[in-house]
Amino acid sequence: MAEDVVWMDWRSKELGTRIRVALWLHGEIGEGKRFSKQQLRKAIPDVEQVDRRMRDLRPAGWVIKTYRDMASLSPDELFLEKIGTHIWEPGQRSIGLRAISGKVRREVMERDKHRCVRCGISAGEAYSDDLDSSARLTLGHVTPHRHGSAAQLEDLVTECARCNETAKHLTGVQFSAEQVWDRIQELPKKEKAKLLSWMAADRRPMSDTEQAWANYRQLPAVHREALSKRLGLVLSAGEG
Ligand SMILES: [Zn+2]
Repeated sequence: MAEDVVWMDWRSKELGTRIRVALWLHGEIGEGKRFSKQQLRKAIPDVEQVDRRMRDLRPAGWVIKTYRDMASLSPDELFLEKIGTHIWEPGQRSIGLRAISGKVRREVMERDKHRCVRCGISAGEAYSDDLDSSARLTLGHVTPHRHGSAAQLEDLVTECARCNETAKHLTGVQFSAEQVWDRIQELPKKEKAKLLSWMAADRRPMSDTEQAWANYRQLPAVHREALSKRLGLVLSAGEG
């Protein structure tokens, strides 16, 4: 249990932002107290738009008032009126999260060709920096979502668990910015330009070959084996 207490710290980057915000409000602010957005951003500085994640607590029964609800608050101030569900506790984590229907999940994955739109990996494939790994695909939000409404197709993208949880990724295998830059510099000019376009879009578009590969990866092993043989035969026969 003692281990759990240490792990359940709002400073822990292993935790999801929504849980970190809840732990911070619970442990550092408390019911009936006011706090500023700046305090929150200072407490959890490594996350973008942390105040939006705070709003995601409302469907879990947390009452956080803004200056629009309370005349005595300044625009940067908030008031924690009620602490809702302890979403850091086991079994409580998904409370108040918007459910994504199985249909929407399937449609998003199909639209994105069953690949992570950020890094291009497909399900079950190993990351190039960790050959023992096996990518798991999940859904991410294009923009931090508004609570209340159901998640729609256009709000969602397919992401691997690693790209989805940047904080977790940071604690795993990684390269320094300089190491990455060295690698970038070695690329031919044309490839550099391609990489820059990926950076601008924050996603890696797929070539026809990669698309075929992603579709192939979705097949059961027995079909993969058959297709691999078939392609081998076609190529060795000099067809194309
Ligand atoms: Zn990815």
